[in-house]
Amino acid sequence: MAEGLKWMQCPVCKESLYWEIPSDKLKNVKRFPAPVVVKHKDHYLVCYLDSHHQLADTEIAVASVDGKEKK
Ligand SMILES: [Zn+2]
Repeated sequence: MAEGLKWMQCPVCKESLYWEIPSDKLKNVKRFPAPVVVKHKDHYLVCYLDSHHQLADTEIAVASVDGKEKK
């Protein structure tokens, strides 16, 4: 397996899922666990990485809707 790739079983469709850790972006993250949104087919997963880039938690986001900030 290439470095930076994570394997997991998708909690939604139960298929194998490979996703790449955005190491460059995580360098700027000050607080962990950091959420990484992974799109898999028509659903989204929120994978929380700790400071060692290990998977700390996974959340299922079956539907993703953009929220708009109001001032
Ligand atoms: Zn899936």
